[in-house]
Amino acid sequence: MYRYYINKNAQTNGAHEVHRLGSRFLPKSEHRVSIGFFNNIQDAIKEALKTHPSSKCCPSCLKFDRRNIM
Ligand SMILES: [Zn+2]
Repeated sequence: MYRYYINKNAQTNGAHEVHRLGSRFLPKSEHRVSIGFFNNIQDAIKEALKTHPSSKCCPSCLKFDRRNIM
């Protein structure tokens, strides 16, 4: 499992990005909130949506998941 974080700051399109710990786009500690431990970013997003309805997967973290599944 990986630990996932949500960016406290919205992107220019209003979305809050969700990242795996280790993502090269992971925001600095003061700009992120831990969501918890999940097997993949899809599960992390489900949790993030409860508090941030505009949550989106970080494209880099999504690619990481796909590589791992294949
Ligand atoms: Zn990421």
